[in-house]
Amino acid sequence: MTTKIPNLINGEFSQSKSTTFLDVLNPSTQEVLAQVPLTTLDEMNQAVESAKQAFKLWSEVPVSDRARLMLRYQELLKKHQDEIATILAKENGKTFADAQGDVWRGIEVVEHATGIATLSMGETVENVARSIDCHSIQQPIGVCGGITPFNFPAMIPLWMFPMAIACGNSFILKPSEQDPMTPMRLAELFMEAGAPKGLLNVIHGTKDQVNFILDNPDIKTVSFVGSVPVARHVYERGSKNLKRVQAFAGAKNHMIVMPDANKDQVVANITGASCGAAGQRCMAISVAVLVGDAQKWVPEIEASIKTIKVGNWDDESAGLGPLVSPEAKQRVERLIGEGVDAGAKLLLDGRNHTVKGFEKGNFVGPTLFDKVTEEMSIYKEEIFGPVLCLVHADSLDEAIALINRNPYGNGTSIFTQNGYAARHFQHNIEVGQVGVNIPIPVPLPFFSFTGWRASFYGDQHAYGKQAVRFYTRTKTITTRWFAEEDKAFSPNMTIQLK
Ligand code: NAD
Repeated sequence: MTTKIPNLINGEFSQSKSTTFLDVLNPSTQEVLAQVPLTTLDEMNQAVESAKQAFKLWSEVPVSDRARLMLRYQELLKKHQDEIATILAKENGKTFADAQGDVWRGIEVVEHATGIATLSMGETVENVARSIDCHSIQQPIGVCGGITPFNFPAMIPLWMFPMAIACGNSFILKPSEQDPMTPMRLAELFMEAGAPKGLLNVIHGTKDQVNFILDNPDIKTVSFVGSVPVARHVYERGSKNLKRVQAFAGAKNHMIVMPDANKDQVVANITGASCGAAGQRCMAISVAVLVGDAQKWVPEIEASIKTIKVGNWDDESAGLGPLVSPEAKQRVERLIGEGVDAGAKLLLDGRNHTVKGFEKGNFVGPTLFDKVTEEMSIYKEEIFGPVLCLVHADSLDEAIALINRNPYGNGTSIFTQNGYAARHFQHNIEVGQVGVNIPIPVPLPFFSFTGWRASFYGDQHAYGKQAVRFYTRTKTITTRWFAEEDKAFSPNMTIQLK
């Protein structure tokens, strides 16, 4: 019988009473790995009630004890990282090495959350007026909600609930329905680490369950990661309901290649950054802008990308696995067709790619287009597949202007050996995460993940100090202590020193 994935409500992994379940498919074979429920309204209300009760107790727990829960959790995640990576690779399709990276980048956020005591320190100023002091403290908010995408089923849930809970909140997670087995394993280990019941609840589903989180007045914050239309919906509906919302959205990341860069380094980096994880990374490089003489490097880029082997997750020699679903494959192949029709030069065609033994898999081979222009749909849309578009520019400023015209602003990079060009680029580019000779500049958790423009809706970003701000409220306290001999103070508002 097919495994039915449980909810986690009030510390219990319990089967949903839902009558509707969705299949979780192995992307290489279409085998049904498990079924995930559309959690019922009654169950979601129970999750909120449980999270409210847990918050009352947890928000009073000393910060060192909150940090210790994260220490125990980090230890367990490390112990089980290959097991989690195996579950992840099977349901998502990533190669095993890439799945290990997904888990590891999540563990790093839990490591960061262990430092919650220093991260959540307030500020103090003595003598803001004569004998009056002022200090601020960061207090937790209540029940926080999180909605995650399919493409990082370990890392992105771990961006959210460890930081929220370390700050003293409780959490309700709605993972992607496409690969929910990984987040469930993360939740099991969190309970094993000693999390009190109700601190983390996991519900499942799609649109209706997301809208429940957006509308329920007891859920105070919403963290979302996913595509642009859904991110906008989440931001607009959540904000309208007076919640604090952070919504991370899609991307179109450009790499500028200057003619003074080291050609071999450019070719190696462009290959991994465009086709790794089958291009299903929000920080993947999907456009390379070749400036001046770098345009002569197209044959070397083509030769390198061509060598990437496509295979099942457990094929150690494979550099890319299947896309997550048949619909994702169809979409990517449709866009490749549109690129051809629009007149882009298709140098490598990944359509109709099959892998021996996995003929039903959602595979798309590495694909390379040259002479791509701004009005083409392959340039405008996020393809989310192993497709690299090459664009030509005459100068650095022309390349910067092109990137700044693009609505997205998640990540970008420049490859150059010229310090002035790199400084000019980092200063003038309208993108929130910038790499200099680093193709995918994802910040480590002591910084924050700072996408801009159409790639992010909200104010405070994920992890780092910004996450502490997002998951807490600042209280500012002004204090005066009277001495016995103190007389009544002046009724005037201020006394200025001359
Ligand atoms: P998605 O938007 O389809 O789904 C994300 C979540 O929203 C899922 O939990 C899903 O169940 C839910 N959802 C789907 N349709 C909905 C609807 N109509 N109403 C309410 N909820 C809905 O995204 P995906 O395909 O799972 O993930 C890929 C996308 O996520 C890409 O666009 C990628 O760029 C983006 N992403 C962005 C970042 C970032 O940090 N900016 C990181 C990872 C992924």
